[in-house]
Amino acid sequence: MKLICIGRNYADHVSELGNVTLNEPLFFLKPDSAVLPHRHPFYIPPWTGEVHHEIELLVRITRNGKNIAPEFAHRYFDELSLGIDFTARDVQSALKAKGHPWEKAKGFDGSAVLSKKWIPKATWKGGWELACFTLKKNGRVVQSATAESMIFHVHDLIAYVSQYMTLKMGDVIFTGTPAGVGPVADGDVLEGFLDEYSMFRVQIHG
Ligand code: ZN
Repeated sequence: MKLICIGRNYADHVSELGNVTLNEPLFFLKPDSAVLPHRHPFYIPPWTGEVHHEIELLVRITRNGKNIAPEFAHRYFDELSLGIDFTARDVQSALKAKGHPWEKAKGFDGSAVLSKKWIPKATWKGGWELACFTLKKNGRVVQSATAESMIFHVHDLIAYVSQYMTLKMGDVIFTGTPAGVGPVADGDVLEGFLDEYSMFRVQIHG
């Protein structure tokens, strides 16, 4: 199983990090060892001073595919979920400055939170893109968006990534984070909601 993560897919988040908007999607991978086991707390690794939360809508690939056309991409996922792409921002900034890959900052153990719940996309009658997802830190909303404000639609992401990598059943796409990313600290509690569904709760240990 691979975790495919999309970068810079919400304009308000692109500008908060001082990045430029891209004319094609940006993606990177996390290994399966990055998955935080369910109900486990997240321990801030000792080699970073700044871990950021990035709430992201998740889609899980239901069939194998390569070179998928955007108009058929909807057939490759049935359910939505929610997760966190934990990012060691200080390490990532140093790697970016050197033009190096981001793996250390993005692929470390526990850096991928995946809700255990998956909700059929047909649940949203007006279109699943309207599903509102929210991250609360210590009970306060810090990030909230719908897929409607993505720069690249999920169908286009599936088409794009599958030109380079075969998508396999069970692969998960982290579709990018909206504005409001920020640091986590010892004692914080992060909770994710997809509309009325409570999706996960993660305790942070420093
Ligand atoms: Zn991310």
